[in-house]
Amino acid sequence: MFLNKRQIKKLTSWSVFLFDTLYPIQCLGCKTGTNYLCNKCSNSIPTNNNSRCPICHKNSPWGKLCQECKPNNSLDGVFSAYNYKHPLIKQLITTLKYNFIRSVDKDIGLLIDKSISEYSKYFSQDEIPKIFRKEIDVTIIPVPLHKFRERWRGFNQSNEIAKNIKYWPKAKLEFNTLKRIKYTKQQAKLNKNKRTKNTKNAFQVQGDQKNKTIILVDDVASSKSTLNECARILKNKGAKSVWSIVFAHQAE
Ligand SMILES: [Zn+2]
Ligand SMILES: [Zn+2]
Repeated sequence: MFLNKRQIKKLTSWSVFLFDTLYPIQCLGCKTGTNYLCNKCSNSIPTNNNSRCPICHKNSPWGKLCQECKPNNSLDGVFSAYNYKHPLIKQLITTLKYNFIRSVDKDIGLLIDKSISEYSKYFSQDEIPKIFRKEIDVTIIPVPLHKFRERWRGFNQSNEIAKNIKYWPKAKLEFNTLKRIKYTKQQAKLNKNKRTKNTKNAFQVQGDQKNKTIILVDDVASSKSTLNECARILKNKGAKSVWSIVFAHQAE
């Protein structure tokens, strides 16, 4: 049985109300305060050290695709903000994704901004990829869910994260540029070859993307084939550069 949009909204707000009453907001780490993450616990989470090519895992600053992988892939790089194995990162994702608690997206947005700023400190201005220098106009696009899955959850967790990334103050946010048109099996359950097949032609781009510098936002990237497929079709429509920012990196 499928519920309509209004019924789902009602149900979601009821479950949020119920959840907040049963489990009042407190820090996921130290169980004190009135926020999901207190400053002390937030500062205890190590930021990105994942300076590797996302395809072959060779050392590569910022997660830029290395020269060998670049010609066979459309993505320009994947910046992974945190390691999924950290218990607080895992809990933040679970809270957002499976407990349907949207307000945790603000903490996730702040953490992503912090990870990029901290990582920048290791580089001189011209060593920082253009996209992270705030000099160019960027467009932020969340990786879309299929409408069935979004309807089931009531929201797309990547949309919520994308809204809260403030590192690029003038970034344009676009929620309707990319559409998932194929209902795909969950990537985590498939091997690498099947993942690539599974994502092929799973997305559609609306409108011209000429000369755009695009940042795809995803909560967890366990497979690069989804991001690569999105980058491929965005570049087919003229996008100049497509990077991705992933909140939690999961080793493959
Ligand atoms: Zn705490
Ligand atoms: Zn590589």
